Amino acid sequence: MRYLEDVITLEFDAAKCNGCGLCVLVCPHAVFAMAEKRAALVDRGACMECGACSKNCEPGAIQVRSGVGCAAGVLVGWLTGSEPTCDCAGNSSSCC
Ligand code: SF4
Ligand code: SF4
Repeated sequence: MRYLEDVITLEFDAAKCNGCGLCVLVCPHAVFAMAEKRAALVDRGACMECGACSKNCEPGAIQVRSGVGCAAGVLVGWLTGSEPTCDCAGNSSSCC
């Protein structure tokens, strides 16, 4: 299952990566791969915002809002025909 490319909160700073490879190991959707001894973001749109990568990234190269993220909220809205559950609707300026 793929989520929505433009609402994923995943951010990756390759300059901070130490090449430990844990993000590749723990990601259930193969969002990361190793390339030249560092992680590379190869499929950002497949991220489900589970947070496993950022929790295991000691140098803090990965940031993601885990839990009920925008991707899930927007998806639920689409599937149910209702407004997004992540405050993307309305006047909130703190989302996505
Ligand atoms: S977990 Fe962090 S430091 Fe380790 S390879 Fe992934 S991005 Fe690099
Ligand atoms: S948040 Fe989860 S799905 Fe997204 S890149 Fe990290 S480990 Fe993979």
